[in-house]
Amino acid sequence: MSEKYWNIASHYFAGGVNSPVRAAVKPYPFYVERAEGAYLYTADNKQLIDYVLGYGPLILGHANQYVTKKIIEQVNKGWLYGTPSPIEIELARKISHHLPSAQKIRFVNSGTEATMLALRLARAYTGREKIIKFHGNYHGAHDYLLLDAGSAFTEFNVNVYNGIPKSIVNTIRICEYNDAECVEKLSKSEDIAGVIVEPVMGNMGVILPDKDFLERLREITLTYNSVLIFDEVITGFRLGLGGAQGTFNVTPDLTTLGKIIGGGLPIGAVAGKKEIIDMLTPAGKVFNAGTFNANPLTMTAGLATIEVLERENVHEVANRAVNVILEELVNALDKKIPNNFVINHIGSMFQVFFGVKKVSNATEAKLANKEMYQKFHNLLLQRGVFIPPSQFETIFTSYAHKDVVVNTTLEILRKVVQEL
Ligand code: PMP
Repeated sequence: MSEKYWNIASHYFAGGVNSPVRAAVKPYPFYVERAEGAYLYTADNKQLIDYVLGYGPLILGHANQYVTKKIIEQVNKGWLYGTPSPIEIELARKISHHLPSAQKIRFVNSGTEATMLALRLARAYTGREKIIKFHGNYHGAHDYLLLDAGSAFTEFNVNVYNGIPKSIVNTIRICEYNDAECVEKLSKSEDIAGVIVEPVMGNMGVILPDKDFLERLREITLTYNSVLIFDEVITGFRLGLGGAQGTFNVTPDLTTLGKIIGGGLPIGAVAGKKEIIDMLTPAGKVFNAGTFNANPLTMTAGLATIEVLERENVHEVANRAVNVILEELVNALDKKIPNNFVINHIGSMFQVFFGVKKVSNATEAKLANKEMYQKFHNLLLQRGVFIPPSQFETIFTSYAHKDVVVNTTLEILRKVVQEL
């Protein structure tokens, strides 16, 4: 059935899909009809254990009962008012409580919108134009940060100048991840408005910050009065309720959020220092608006998700799933291809790189054996486990990845590693 859908879809959509990474599943994407817990149910009557989880938002798994109930209750009360609703205050209160740096918040509709707005704020706040970003970090699909981006931009080997004015690309300065000296040098020699970073990289596979890297970024941006922006679209509420900033104990000026805070419905947010967020219209003169900003349905799903995160041991379950899986995977790979792979992980995120010994930045990630990763993906999929089809994405676990799901995964992993 999926093949049939794919043939029809290819008439309507460029490359047959509406977001490029979906077409990285070969020979064609599978179509999903239903999802529940840790499982996807495909149009081909297959049940798959899902380790993609909507590319990050579904930390509770699919169709969590509490979130479903809350969404349905809200649907019955209408889902777009064009005027504020009390739920947006409740969600903001929760975010602000867990992320003390989030003194004020603006809700938007995607991570893309969030980072675009964060740059506008940083530029307006400092009166400067240039932005430092890191090779392999991905901050969304807009013009301003695509240079040397990770995720599908790397997977599909895109040329940034296709459709983006040189004058915009020229406002970006690139450093290698974990290279704080580069940031220091650029900050000394140029007028830098802001530094934007994924505090844990989730768009080149998983890459961790070296000890002190984030702290150094904080020091440098304070010294040069530029705005430090943590892009926590993936890590926010995934690495614990306090996100990466809580985990590493470094406080940015602005944080961009998305994914989990919308419970699986479209969302983004810019949060941070009161004096910066207050520059936004209508309080200030930096423009932002959105028909769907803070829409009650998304607010409800996000709020319900955070409530479950607060009262149940979600992070513990999701993190344990990664630990158990990695014990097995490392063991199996050690026997099959000793010293010829590396696995980076933190909390409920991990990725495996074949053919390399260390991955601490995007250049090293690009040296990994992509073909072998693709084979790993295909073999897992054939046996009923779905991990991202691209090396440059993150494997996620969720609250729904309980022991029985993990144990099935372990059996499949053992077989797949044999066949690699
Ligand atoms: N920032 C990061 C760190 C992301 O991982 C993503 C999406 N994967 C985005 C921004 C863009 O978010 P969205 O797809 O919601 O526009």
